[in-house]
Amino acid sequence: MILDYHTHTPLCKHAVGEPEAYAARAVERGIEEIGFSDHCPMPVDYDTDWRMTRAEYPTYIEMVSRCRKAFPKLSVKLGLEADYHPGTEEYVRDVIGAYDFDYVIGSIHFLGDWGFDNPNHVEKFDGKDIYKVYEQYYDLVGKLAATRMYDILGHPDVIKKFGHRPTRDYEPLELRALDAVARAGMAMDVNTSGLRRPAKEIYPSLRILKAARERGIDITFGSDAHDPKLVGESFSEAVAEVKKAGYTHFRRYTKRRFELVPLP
Ligand code: ZN
Ligand code: FE
Ligand code: FE
Ligand code: ZN
Repeated sequence: MILDYHTHTPLCKHAVGEPEAYAARAVERGIEEIGFSDHCPMPVDYDTDWRMTRAEYPTYIEMVSRCRKAFPKLSVKLGLEADYHPGTEEYVRDVIGAYDFDYVIGSIHFLGDWGFDNPNHVEKFDGKDIYKVYEQYYDLVGKLAATRMYDILGHPDVIKKFGHRPTRDYEPLELRALDAVARAGMAMDVNTSGLRRPAKEIYPSLRILKAARERGIDITFGSDAHDPKLVGESFSEAVAEVKKAGYTHFRRYTKRRFELVPLP
C-alpha cells in the first residue's frame, strides 16, 4: 500500500477543493490511505492569511469526518500541519491537544518574522549569507524535535525551496538536525512538492534520506497537495528515491501511534 499524509483544505486560504475531491483523487490513483494536514491555527499575529482561524478549527475536524463518511472504503486520517515557531509552543500544544489526531506534522515556515518559503517574500534571500540562513533553519529543526510535540518533520529541507544553496559545505547542519530528529523518535515527511519548486528535488534530498536511514529515522509520504489533482503526485519517484537510501518500510499512523508498512 501507499499513503499520502500531507494534504490541505480551502480553510488555509491558499488551497482549492473540498476533502472529498482529494479523497476521490486518492482512489483514482490507487492510494489506500489519505491524511489531511491543514495549516493549524496560530496566534493572531502569525501568518493569518495562510491558515484557518481558531474559530474555524472545529469546521476542519468536521470536514475530515464528513469526508471519511463519504468514502467508507478509503482510509481517511485526521492530521495537522502544526508550525514550530519559538514563543508559540504553548499555543500550539493547546491546538494539538484539542482533538484526537492520527498524526501531527511539525513544519518550519518562518525564520524570525520572515516567511522564507512564501513566494511573496523570496526576495529577502537576496544579499543574505545563505549558509547562515541554512544554519538558522536547521537550528530550528533541532529545536522543533526537542519539543517532542510533533510526530513527523514536514518537508525536512524546505529551506532549499527556491533553489538557494550555500557555497560552503552545509551537511554538518543537516546531520546535527537529524540527530535531534532521531532522538525524538520522529519520522520524516518525504514530500514530493519540492519537485514542483525551483529546488526541483524531493524534500528531503537523497543525502538526507541516506543519513536519516543510518540513524533509524522512519518516513511517511506526502504530496503537500493544495489542489486535489496533486494527491499522490510523483509518488513513484519518491518510492524509488527512498529505496535508493535503503528504506524498506514507511510509517502509518493511527491516533499518534505508528506501525511499519512495507514499501510497495
Ligand atoms: Zn500551505
Ligand atoms: Fe508547510
Ligand atoms: Fe503543507
Ligand atoms: Zn506543508
